[in-house]
Amino acid sequence: MDCFAPEEAWSQDAIAAAQTTRLRMTIEQALRSPFYKERLGRLGITPGTIAGPEDVQKLPFTTKDDLRGAYPTGFVAVPQSELVRLHASSGTTGSPVIVCHTQDDINAWADLMARCMHMVGIRKSDVFQNMSGYGLFTGGLGIHYGAERLGCLTIPAGAGNTRRQLKLIRDLSVTAVHILPSYALYLGNMLIDEGVDPRSLPPRIALIGAEPHSEEIRQRIEYLLGVKAYNSYGLSEMNGPGVAFECLAQNGLHVWEDAFIAEIVDPETGAPVPEGEFGELVMTTLTRRGMPIIRYRTRDITRFLPGECLCGRKHRRIDRISGRSDDLFIVKGCNIYPMQIEQALMAFPEVGDNYLIILEHVDNMEQLRVQVEIRPDYFVEDMRALVGLQKAIAHRLRDEILVTPKIDLVQMNSLPVTEGKAKRVEDRRQNS
Ligand code: ADP
Ligand code: ZN
Repeated sequence: MDCFAPEEAWSQDAIAAAQTTRLRMTIEQALRSPFYKERLGRLGITPGTIAGPEDVQKLPFTTKDDLRGAYPTGFVAVPQSELVRLHASSGTTGSPVIVCHTQDDINAWADLMARCMHMVGIRKSDVFQNMSGYGLFTGGLGIHYGAERLGCLTIPAGAGNTRRQLKLIRDLSVTAVHILPSYALYLGNMLIDEGVDPRSLPPRIALIGAEPHSEEIRQRIEYLLGVKAYNSYGLSEMNGPGVAFECLAQNGLHVWEDAFIAEIVDPETGAPVPEGEFGELVMTTLTRRGMPIIRYRTRDITRFLPGECLCGRKHRRIDRISGRSDDLFIVKGCNIYPMQIEQALMAFPEVGDNYLIILEHVDNMEQLRVQVEIRPDYFVEDMRALVGLQKAIAHRLRDEILVTPKIDLVQMNSLPVTEGKAKRVEDRRQNS
């Protein structure tokens, strides 16, 4: 194993030992913040509560509402003069949350991020273009500092502006990029429209993440851009990117267990789920001083993958995020995740790379409508073929989600594309 950091090659015992000491230190540090002083203090929790990593279960959960309630500084555990950076979540599901870091926190985060990039084969000699939005969003500076830490020539291209992205990629022979999956597909298709073959461009590695995407979408990105695409998972509350990352095996994401404790719980009861079952990911920071967070309910749904990874790393792997518990919507009594729809759609070669799920009322009945982009080579004049495809998609979706959707076939690049995270569901039920 070619490691960036010695922690990467730790045995499970070494990880557990470090988790125990670091969890104790985290509690000690957290007790310096107004929020945890009250919350942990009330329960009589001290560093001595922890005898091993499993004792994390003795600690109370922290929710997004707790973070919002303590806005702006209720979780800060150091004097303000020690803080050097502030980030905020994207606010995908409501008002954003801010997270503050000390210089040591930023350095540790950059190390974690560099470790992820090194794991998938990026080296000092690579030229790295970060195509995610900068500013408060952690996908900008978080990835940027990791790439610099690794020693890459790092281009803070930011999101959007396809022409400029292309110019930089060509002029500087960019070999690795970070890009949101929805933007990767959009960019690739735009280039083809303009007569550029994206596969002929220099990048060979793409880090993709920040939003849920299916395995099918990963494969489409790899084929469209001629790259290997690696799934990058993170959230602002746990720094941002660099929390869990795929290795070369592309089979699950290693959670860096020397820096975080990950648990998977039943979202209803909060109890741990049996090994290998899906549930909500709960995360604890182990090395952060500015703003430690204990047992954070991420609302992201995944599971631990059983068995050892081919790469030899012992840090446990999580499955790709199948959705956020907030994304779940209910139509005609059926629980549906957007990712189920994406998976079913992407199995059709005729289907393009963008889609939109619309929930509406028609004649007082709930209706699920899916607008699906169709590849130009299939978007033929032959009505019968299109009607056949429409029916086939509707059937396939009904088998998957138990509701028969209405399918609209639309031309490629006609559905809206956002610069940030893709918005897959439009709920019009309130106003119809
Ligand atoms: P927000 O929760 O407002 O979007 P963040 O910018 O902190 O704020 O984004 C973190 C969230 O993004 C995660 O909790 C998760 O839902 C999603 N996310 C991040 N990376 C991935 C990924 N690789 N796959 C799926 N979802 C992801
Ligand atoms: Zn691995």
